[in-house]
Amino acid sequence: MSLHNVVEAQRAYFNSGATRSLAFRKEQLKQLKKMLIECEGVLCDSVWEDHKRQPKSTYLLEIGSTITEIDYFLDNLDDWAKPENVAKTVLNLLDTPQIIKDPKGVTLIVAPWNYPHYMVLLPLIPAIGAGNTVVIKPSEISEHSAKAMAECIGKYFDPKYLTVVNGGVSETTELLKERFDHILYTGCPPVAKIIMTAAAKHLTPVTLELGGKCPVIIRDDADLEISAKRVAWGKWMNCGQTCLAPDYVLVTEKSKGKFVDALRKSIREFYGDDIKSSKDYSRIISARHYDRISSLLDKSHGKVLIQDGERDREDLFITPTVLDVQKEDTFMEDEIFGPVLPILTINSFDEQLEYIRQGEKPLAAYIFTRNDRDADRLLAETSSGGVTVNDVIMHLLVDTLPFGGVGNSGMGRYRGKFGFDTFSHEKSVLKKGFFGESLLFARYPPLTDKKFNQ
Ligand code: NAD
Repeated sequence: MSLHNVVEAQRAYFNSGATRSLAFRKEQLKQLKKMLIECEGVLCDSVWEDHKRQPKSTYLLEIGSTITEIDYFLDNLDDWAKPENVAKTVLNLLDTPQIIKDPKGVTLIVAPWNYPHYMVLLPLIPAIGAGNTVVIKPSEISEHSAKAMAECIGKYFDPKYLTVVNGGVSETTELLKERFDHILYTGCPPVAKIIMTAAAKHLTPVTLELGGKCPVIIRDDADLEISAKRVAWGKWMNCGQTCLAPDYVLVTEKSKGKFVDALRKSIREFYGDDIKSSKDYSRIISARHYDRISSLLDKSHGKVLIQDGERDREDLFITPTVLDVQKEDTFMEDEIFGPVLPILTINSFDEQLEYIRQGEKPLAAYIFTRNDRDADRLLAETSSGGVTVNDVIMHLLVDTLPFGGVGNSGMGRYRGKFGFDTFSHEKSVLKKGFFGESLLFARYPPLTDKKFNQ
């Protein structure tokens, strides 16, 4: 079937009204949960093929967390979807003004490779919950995961409702010529511009979930052992290929030594003496990304603080690396998206905040401190998609918080009710009866002086 026909088949199905009832949506969410339980092995193994990430870890990061989100939707959908009565004004005291949550229609999810299933499934849940049909475009870079997802979705869902389109740039380009009612794209800013330009041709609304350089500030009063452990966990999970991973650390001269020692200790605890043979340490996704990070390492003037093990292109292995850098270093330009953590020494807190402010707005910012005033200053004086104080990444796991970027790190948000709202149109409705004519008689022409002066 041509891509045009795929989309048009979904439009016809959507227009039939089949996806609208809450009973249908809940049934589909349960079907998705069933798929995840029954296909867990296939899905986790496919990520092993792409990332060399061990299945247990993929279950926790991508499958288990998706099941939790489905359950959260099943528990709350009735409440989120019901019409909302809003306050009345003097003009409609006798009427009923309401917001009705309308499904948008045929939606498109374009996903990246780093958490290839989670990045498809997390937006899929609200798209289903809000009553839409969905075309899913996984990343061709994580090709085994993309294939596994297509097989599973194909087995459990009718393509006129949910379908996976696999392929590279040319297939995505073709797909983007079609008219969608909403597009949610996760990936990098340059491709986001292509998506937005294509969407503009149909005036399709977009949600863009992008990345950026997520800073970490380590204040001198922080518990440096715990801070380092948490930073190490967030940085080297999935080999640094996490949108919310700490990108760089700002620390004072006073705390740098102790913080780096604690990082070294955590790396050893997590991955042992021979990191290359650790089941918990993933690989770089592709030779292209390996070469990108390798070339940054070759060009960097940073002093190596931690680097146990050689790079290996065959194996796409780059060991956890910590560098002491200057502001001009190559690692301080773009999002690193790999296992290298530059540390920049800036002693004044004002200057640390200024450094963050002068860059693009990141997807997340982190601060480790016992001083609430310092944490509040980061919140008030910098802009980022989200913040976790005294930890990294964890704000993503709070169902009741929106997840999304700002500026260069994205637009729009999802997770929980925020996702439901993103994939719904909030329709303004005013229900009136046939009474109260005398109250509003002045609106009818002719507009006489008598009416005007009343
Ligand atoms: P990618 O290269 O896999 O691209 C993402 C998607 O865009 C893929 O489906 C791909 O087919 C499509 N695509 C690529 N080039 C295209 C083109 N020219 N035209 C149309 N479609 C195209 O992934 P990536 O961009 O390398 O992903 C990494 C980025 O994603 C990082 O910046 C990371 O921070 C970000 N990210 C953000 C989040 C988030 O939730 N905010 C989550 C994960 C990753």
